[in-house]
Amino acid sequence: MSRLVLVATPIGNMSDVSPRAIAELTAAGLVCCEDTRRTGMMLKNLGIDAKLMRVDEHTEHASIPRVLDALNEGRDVCLVTDAGTPGISDPGERIVRAVSQTAHIVTAVPGPAAFVMALVISGLPTERFAFDGFLPRGGKERARSIADLVRERRTTVLYEAPHRLQRTLEDLYVSLGGERRIVVARELTKIHEEVWRGSIADAVTNFAGVEPKGEFVLVVEGAADEPAATDDDIDRLLLAELAAGVSVRDAAAVVAELTGAPKKTVYNRALELSKSDDERS
Ligand code: SAM
Repeated sequence: MSRLVLVATPIGNMSDVSPRAIAELTAAGLVCCEDTRRTGMMLKNLGIDAKLMRVDEHTEHASIPRVLDALNEGRDVCLVTDAGTPGISDPGERIVRAVSQTAHIVTAVPGPAAFVMALVISGLPTERFAFDGFLPRGGKERARSIADLVRERRTTVLYEAPHRLQRTLEDLYVSLGGERRIVVARELTKIHEEVWRGSIADAVTNFAGVEPKGEFVLVVEGAADEPAATDDDIDRLLLAELAAGVSVRDAAAVVAELTGAPKKTVYNRALELSKSDDERS
């Protein structure tokens, strides 16, 4: 059995390349990369002489047979991208899926990923979070992705190209309002690393007018918790369901789901309400 090894590479600071990354790249029988010139230079600087094969987002699917051939010949294959962790807004997923359906091993050398660094330095909640990568560029898909953020309670991390930063901030402002906190992390691990923190409204003003340069990650605060439903709210919803002819069990299930209240409590209350309704009629 051979191994496919996803090797994380630096997102800007070459000192972040790990000793294990160097060892795997040195030993690999084939290194798949997005840009042979760029990866070739990195390997040259590390003193590594490897056989390179280009695999970018357009050629990933077509490259699968060659990757499988190399593995079947007993060679270990490394997969790197231009920066960071392969498979994160980068090629990797399709090759991993194909190799994971064979007897070969899929493993990784973990390392830099811009979204993880931005999240952990943001100061926003990290216990639960969502990573949405790049928002769709336009149309219904973009509108839907942004609409999802309106209700999303978790901190959400987004990647954005510099020339689309301003528009994305404005779109977030329109849909999410100006109050939520946002962190704009730029050029992480590089000399000009900057982390801007403020409200969405302030971000729109701050980044207006100047063409931003470099690479950006946005970390957006999640939606505030909705206030817990009161007993009156639960009664009102249950009575509406019961009046519509819904059974006690189904009414309780629907209202528990809507309000987040414990199922048993809602069921008992639904029973009481349906009985007092029966007694009145
Ligand atoms: N695979 C990479 C990773 O693990 O983060 C991401 C690749 S994706 C094609 C490139 C995007 O990642 C950039 O447009 C930017 O949003 C983000 N990014 C990468 N390096 C960055 C850095 N040093 N600082 C800020 N954002 C970065």
